Amino acid sequence: MTEEKCAHIEAITTVKRAQRRQCEECAKIGSRWVHLRVCQECGATRCCDDSPSRHATKHARASKHPVIASAEPGERWLYCYPDDAIAEY
Ligand SMILES: [Zn+2]
Ligand SMILES: [Zn+2]
Ligand SMILES: [Zn+2]
Repeated sequence: MTEEKCAHIEAITTVKRAQRRQCEECAKIGSRWVHLRVCQECGATRCCDDSPSRHATKHARASKHPVIASAEPGERWLYCYPDDAIAEY
């Protein structure tokens, strides 16, 4: 895992946390998720790529929102899709 900074991540001053501990899309369709991610653009909570529906990635592609944060307890990192960059905070 390389730690590279990108302009998207550097622009984030306050990391958005999950409002509720559930994937909003999975909750609608009754699906399950593995880990949760929070979009740092709009605060949407979505599931990770280990989850069957991969809603975080789908949301990032569809909305062009670049950065997610892990919503898992004890994890403090941000990931930027366009730059494929990860940074701890
Ligand atoms: Zn970036
Ligand atoms: Zn989901
Ligand atoms: Zn978003």
